[in-house]
Amino acid sequence: MNAILHPQMHLHKVELKPKDYKTDAPSFWCAGCGHYGVLTGLLRALAEIGIDQNYLVNVSGIGCSSRLPYFVNSYKMHTLHGRAGPVATGVQLARPDLSVVITGGDGDGFSIGGGHMPHLARKNVNMIYILMDNHVYGLTKGQCSPTSRPEMQTTTTPYGGVEEPLDPIMYMLTYGATYVAQAFAGNVKLASQLIKDGMEHKGFAFVNLLSQCPSFNNIDTAQTFKDACEQLPDDHDASDLGAAMNAVRAAKQACRIPTGLIYRTERPTLDQRMAKLVENVGGHKDYDLRKIIDLARP
Ligand code: SF4
Ligand code: MG
Repeated sequence: MNAILHPQMHLHKVELKPKDYKTDAPSFWCAGCGHYGVLTGLLRALAEIGIDQNYLVNVSGIGCSSRLPYFVNSYKMHTLHGRAGPVATGVQLARPDLSVVITGGDGDGFSIGGGHMPHLARKNVNMIYILMDNHVYGLTKGQCSPTSRPEMQTTTTPYGGVEEPLDPIMYMLTYGATYVAQAFAGNVKLASQLIKDGMEHKGFAFVNLLSQCPSFNNIDTAQTFKDACEQLPDDHDASDLGAAMNAVRAAKQACRIPTGLIYRTERPTLDQRMAKLVENVGGHKDYDLRKIIDLARP
């Protein structure tokens, strides 16, 4: 029987320490890179969940951040620039019992792969996307990215930028992500908690981690991110989309970066809906494509 008929994600529990989830691959990130904090947060989250590595797949595109899977003891796919989303969607639909984690950067996700982002959110693909947002292209040595601030001088904008940066959080809220959270990568405790909750969430979880690039971004330093980040108040209603958008808008007007759980809701995931569709046409094994097409008609 095809795995698509079993859409429930089972977290296979094991007792491991964070270091057990780390490979011994030599580091290739620069000293002081914020991605170290993201990796530590992810390893801690994996250990807290107690996830069996045999049921874990880490997918990435291209970039410094997209090399994170090298350090994680799991199945992994280092794919093409910007294409982690569709590849990970295929993995998740083929094997809904696996836990799928995308790790990647702002350029890879929102520029090269920008066309895929709204579809991951609107389809509610059951996975977590950890964005390591450093407002620059690091691997290719310092070009302007879609989240670069105009004040920043880069190799492609030596006199500063002329475009407004994209806000990954507002973007994800707009397109229907069902779990949206943000933290400074250096706040490993919060980052780890948000990753854990995002992995346990059923649906598309997006966690934006502000991660400094000391080699190519000299205005968004670790200290700048740390100072700008502000935890959402305890009475923030994360189940209210309007409240979530208002909180992000208000923080932006005050030049602050809201952190913590920003929004969370529940709705059927893509694999659940596909399983239902298959069930409606009499099961996967004998399904009739014409029946599926008929069902899809309004
Ligand atoms: Fe990190 Fe920037 Fe170095 Fe890449 S270039 S490893 S993002 S500090
Ligand atoms: Mg980047």
